[in-house]
Amino acid sequence: MSFPQPADVVVHGGTVVNAGGSGPATVVVSGGRIAAVQSPELPLPPHGRAIDATGKLVIPGGVDPHCHIGQRLGEYAQLDDYAGASVAALWGGTTTVVDFAIPEPGQSPIDAVHERRELAAVSRCDTALHGCVTSWDDTTAKQIAAMAEGGVRTIKLFTTYKDVVMAEPDTVLEVLRTLHAQGGIAYVHAEANHVIEDAQDLAAAANRADAGHHALTRPELAEAAAVAEVLATAEHVGAPVYFVHQTTAEAVDLVRAARRRGVRAYTETCPHYLTLDEGTYADDHPERYVCCPPLRAPETVARLHARALTGDVDALGSDHCCYSTAQKVEHSDDVRLMPNGLPGVETRLPVTFTRLVADGGMPVERFVALFATNPARLNGLTGKGVIAPGADADIVVLDPQARRRVAVADLHMQSDYTPYEGRELTGWAQSVLSAGRVVLDADGFHDPGPVGRTLHADPIPDHLLT
Ligand SMILES: [Zn+2]
Repeated sequence: MSFPQPADVVVHGGTVVNAGGSGPATVVVSGGRIAAVQSPELPLPPHGRAIDATGKLVIPGGVDPHCHIGQRLGEYAQLDDYAGASVAALWGGTTTVVDFAIPEPGQSPIDAVHERRELAAVSRCDTALHGCVTSWDDTTAKQIAAMAEGGVRTIKLFTTYKDVVMAEPDTVLEVLRTLHAQGGIAYVHAEANHVIEDAQDLAAAANRADAGHHALTRPELAEAAAVAEVLATAEHVGAPVYFVHQTTAEAVDLVRAARRRGVRAYTETCPHYLTLDEGTYADDHPERYVCCPPLRAPETVARLHARALTGDVDALGSDHCCYSTAQKVEHSDDVRLMPNGLPGVETRLPVTFTRLVADGGMPVERFVALFATNPARLNGLTGKGVIAPGADADIVVLDPQARRRVAVADLHMQSDYTPYEGRELTGWAQSVLSAGRVVLDADGFHDPGPVGRTLHADPIPDHLLT
């Protein structure tokens, strides 16, 4: 093979891992894309820069399907913006972040999308968006069509947080049906609101609504109940559905059973539900671990981990939310008033690689499917999540043997803590290419400036996962 011009970068000596297979290969990068994946026996083509990946894995840049970036919710604003979150993402081997355009009270879904897109202009990596619909009126179908045409084909629905962002069951049905006609997929936060509200009331009456009792306020069965209801709606209208942050084997099994009946249903889980349990709420800083759904009992975590290892989890999202300890502690005597969520866009790769591959024995090809390939496909992001000719040159080199202890001082998220402090992890990105630019190498981070593109989601095909 000959190249008209020297390649920008060649990554050689490593094992290239895709969801569909792996093997030794040289990756040739030109003009922001992968020009060739060639035999390691062939001589390197002329190039500007070579990255020696001998003994290392070369995987597609991560696609994080679940990030909250600089969002204001009530009185609390997340501490990062697209610049900061994207830098942290790149340090962590994620080259595409998908954020949520959640409308403020009185704001339309389409206006929320426009506002987020403007904020994304400072991103250092590529970005995409989920829309969000909270209620149905006679403009909603047109807004969904306009969002799809504008490249937003995934829409978040909440079955809880009544009077804030909750969508009633009839709204869920209309969105699922309308979005399906646009080649899209609904992304559902499924917890049964009436069960949650009652559990919160009971906890408050017993003086147990504080962060230390967070797990009590959102029982596991609330998740399974809402998943079952939404799956029935999806099956009824013949639409696909993706469940964000599943935490229990019961919920995962409902999705699997629906899939066997022909429903296109998908399960996402998050690093923290695979690695942290409710014991953290007895910690000195329980507020730091308050997220929704809550961290679960150790047996639940073990069963979820087992489901991930047997192939029943489709995607890993960080559910990144950057708050400080001070923000979280302010109302930690009542979890109903606290900001929820954990910082995690930077640690998604090492936390899940360690848990699933290094300690769990998951084939690395399967890990790549969950970390990059499936999230790309389930968001309509063509050219992402794969190392193949023509794909975007988003590439991570990692050493599966190298271990490093997590310390918040070494991380780049705008939070003063990490839930993984002190853990020894492997799977840290050593070199990262984002759209062909070397942004991380042995010399550290090379800020590319505000070059992240707003990606246009294509229609999501009917049968897209292997
Ligand atoms: Zn979330």
